Amino acid sequence: MKIAIGSDHGGVDLKSLLVKELSSIATVLDKGPESKESCDYPDFAAAVSKDVASAAVDFGILICRSGIGMSMAANRFQNVRAALCATTEAATLTRQHNGANVLCIGADTVSPQYAVEIAKTFIATPVDMDERHAKRRAKIERAQRLSDCSGLMYDDPEVFAAIEAQTKQEDAEINLIASENTSSRACREAAGSVLMNKYAEGYPGKRWYSGCLPVDAAEELARKRACELFGAEHANVQPHCGSAANMAVYFATINPGDTIMSMSLDQGGHLSHGSPVNFSGKIYNIVPYTVNKETEMLDYDEMERMALEVKPKILLTGASAYPRTIDFERIRAICDKAGSIMMVDMAHIAGLIAGGAHPSPVPYADFVTTTTHKTLGGPRGGMVLCKEKWAKALDSAVFPGMQGGPLENIIAAKAVVFREWMSEAKKGYAQQVVKNCQVMCKTVQDRGYRIVSGGTDNHLFLVDVKTSKGITGKEAAAALDEAGIIVNKNTIPYDTESPFKTSGIRVGTASATTRGMHEAEMIKIGTWIADVLDNIGDDEVKARVRRDAANLVKYFPVP
Ligand SMILES: *Cc1c(COP(=O)(O)O)cnc(C)c1O
Repeated sequence: MKIAIGSDHGGVDLKSLLVKELSSIATVLDKGPESKESCDYPDFAAAVSKDVASAAVDFGILICRSGIGMSMAANRFQNVRAALCATTEAATLTRQHNGANVLCIGADTVSPQYAVEIAKTFIATPVDMDERHAKRRAKIERAQRLSDCSGLMYDDPEVFAAIEAQTKQEDAEINLIASENTSSRACREAAGSVLMNKYAEGYPGKRWYSGCLPVDAAEELARKRACELFGAEHANVQPHCGSAANMAVYFATINPGDTIMSMSLDQGGHLSHGSPVNFSGKIYNIVPYTVNKETEMLDYDEMERMALEVKPKILLTGASAYPRTIDFERIRAICDKAGSIMMVDMAHIAGLIAGGAHPSPVPYADFVTTTTHKTLGGPRGGMVLCKEKWAKALDSAVFPGMQGGPLENIIAAKAVVFREWMSEAKKGYAQQVVKNCQVMCKTVQDRGYRIVSGGTDNHLFLVDVKTSKGITGKEAAAALDEAGIIVNKNTIPYDTESPFKTSGIRVGTASATTRGMHEAEMIKIGTWIADVLDNIGDDEVKARVRRDAANLVKYFPVP
């Protein structure tokens, strides 16, 4: 057992006694002070709290004359639960019920010998795992979700109101938007950090500004971890978003007017893959490919025939609304025959790839672009991975080619998320996202809804609500919204409706899985989706589902 102990000048004597008395049962780290010279208690509270927050020690002990200032200072640190105890009974209860991990003692309020007894009681008492206490401890942590920005209650109540509304919305609804996920607190901490204060045009070690060592460290971590996580030769973590990542690859490789072969938007591709309203469609000659009309899946033979005919400079695959596994090995072979650069946009499936739940394009593709906020669950942003031979061209395309200073706070948050993905738990998560998706998809399908391509291999599925029930995607999404289930309308391949109405909805399971939901919940949600769409005009059904949904999510707190 390890204990960190600290005090101010008023607690030095008691600290020495405790160090002596506890050394026989634990490794005690004395964080100071050494003398009785006047000093500031928050400094020592911080030293001990850092050790507790980072789990470098099991317990902390803090002493000042009343113990109150120390407990206030310590409780500012996340994962620290500091308790001021003047009796052994309080020490027992706060360990059992609150799971306190820092003991604060007032040197003027208890005798030295009794203080030793309190400390021994505190560290000897296990946390009570009974459900009612666990639930309450979880609520303390939950309160943190809003208090993370509680400074804004005073500084800017209007902006705080928007954040509070988003927090409540996330808590209350079932989010099935396939392009969204729920970030970890660690990710949000890095994203909101002081790293945003730094201008850092250039790359680590080669910046145009002074004072870049701290941000260099963060960006180097992000680059290294990205390469390790995806097995890539080179990573550029600076693109501000997925569209910018795609722009960087085009700028690094081809000239205006050159040909890109890509999946069109109405078939499941992305705006930045050549839509006429996007820069990509205005600058380059876009030749779109489609999915097979019968199977609604990619037709690699047809893709090869087209590529050999068109000889595109870039053959781009990856999509925003494609529910099936993509065969990257086959696409590499097509690119080799057609002499095309192989570019894969894995924005939607990056998390599945990181977790081994979808084959990786990285060994095959010249360039892999992604967002970091979809299944990957990180901060809103983009990234490009490439083979070493393209590294220089890519880096100069991003800066100075198209961006100025990088968002180092967001880059740090990307680094945090890449590290999260290296854990075994995340691999299980990726598999669960897919399992959940398949179970919910089948539930809806069994209720008589036509699923595009007949099923799903990844985190999303598309429901053809037009053919199934004669309603539009827009109507379906609006009805589900009223019932507390959030999806988006989506075109389906060869859609006969306008992109504003659409024939389909897109349903994804990344966010619900992040909340800890499993197959049983997916069956419930799939059933509710069918209930609402079967009775689209029935407000009672919507109200019932809304109640049931709100009840369900209570058990799955948003991180
Ligand atoms: C979401 C997405 C993008 C773009 O992401 P933004 O960050 O919104 O620019 C690019 N490609 C694909 C396939 C996407 O799904």
